[in-house]
Amino acid sequence: MKPMGALPPEFADQQGMLTIAGRSAEEWAAEAGDTPVFVYDGAIVAARIARFRAAFSDVDLHYAIKANPLPALLAAIAPLVDGLDIASAGELHRAIAVKPAVAITFAGPGKRDDELTVAIGAGVTLNVESEGEAARAIAIGERLGIRPRLAVRVNPDIELRGSGMRMGGRPSPFGVDAVRAAALVRAIVEAGADWRGFHLYAGSQALDAQAIVETQAATIALAARLAEEAGASPPLVNLGGGFGIPYFAGDRSLAVEEIGAALRIALADRPPVLRDTRFAIELGRWLVAEAGIYLTRIVDRKESGGEVFLVVDGGLNHQLAASGNFGTVVRRNYPLALARAIDGAAIETVSVVGPLCTPLDRLGDRISLPPAQVGDLIAIFLAGAYGASASPADFLGHPPAAELLANSH
Ligand SMILES: *Cc1c(COP(=O)(O)O)cnc(C)c1O
Repeated sequence: MKPMGALPPEFADQQGMLTIAGRSAEEWAAEAGDTPVFVYDGAIVAARIARFRAAFSDVDLHYAIKANPLPALLAAIAPLVDGLDIASAGELHRAIAVKPAVAITFAGPGKRDDELTVAIGAGVTLNVESEGEAARAIAIGERLGIRPRLAVRVNPDIELRGSGMRMGGRPSPFGVDAVRAAALVRAIVEAGADWRGFHLYAGSQALDAQAIVETQAATIALAARLAEEAGASPPLVNLGGGFGIPYFAGDRSLAVEEIGAALRIALADRPPVLRDTRFAIELGRWLVAEAGIYLTRIVDRKESGGEVFLVVDGGLNHQLAASGNFGTVVRRNYPLALARAIDGAAIETVSVVGPLCTPLDRLGDRISLPPAQVGDLIAIFLAGAYGASASPADFLGHPPAAELLANSH
């Protein structure tokens, strides 16, 4: 038997049966008309945002929409956050439908000229990732007769300790190296563009509050040093995010209140060059991952070599991350449960596999569950981030999963 992560507390205590926003898994499957289905509880997302607000005073909150760009969810989140962070023209169209352009920032390497044109035309802020991209944006702004809003993404010489996915402190396609950032700011200012500040992103999926506290302090110091060097005060410093969630056995949820308290002190003591600067934190998974559940039905129950396999109608084509093939080195089990008996005695060791013809399509590897039969629903938790939109939906030609937004308010 192998361990799995803990069920998110919002779902763990429902008198034995999984309920999402007050309705059973079967009711959600009926509402979708079929399985598999992703259900996202908007009330859990709203509670996350409220928790952030309570922990962080006077710091802007941005939602990185790539974590979950479902339009209905975006519409629910947009009024509750200060900004939306996007990374493509496709995401721009979704963001601009729910948020004014001044509150949208566009990061990501390899922005095409047509994407820059749409973004500058709309008045979105570009986090430029290179000198070349800045030059293209300035030229496009001149052609359009619009002063482009440009922030400089810095590849920080800082790494986020314990981060699941490090994105700083080494050669990187993201941002310009810190040693060249001030020169790029000067070039942007001299070209007459509207310089919006710095974007510094050091990593993702960190569960150690102290590591994030250290990274934020180092990020503020770096932003101050670069601003001094550039001779200009940044209107905004985006400190990145990296708040992780507990996916696996032994993971503990992040103490965001500790981070907020430390950041308040760090900002109170900030260097004078940052006195009038606003600060933002950009979060994806921490806001939405735990609000989502992927429901999939058992199609077959079989035995091989003494092991039980529950074959379900959903797989890595919808929920790649749960199969361990999205950003993890070692495959570990996401929390999952039998929806009609989430507290039932877990007396059977089973593997939950999808219908795809590849051994990678394994959603639960030798986990303990109550006895489950064909027709039962399996719930896979932590499906609110990097699920449907981060999975190879066309692989093997099954239909896409439905996605539903629940709201218990
Ligand atoms: C992906 C990404 C995020 C969101 O990361 P999470 O781990 O989901 O919080 C934030 N900022 C940038 C620049 C990103 O690329």
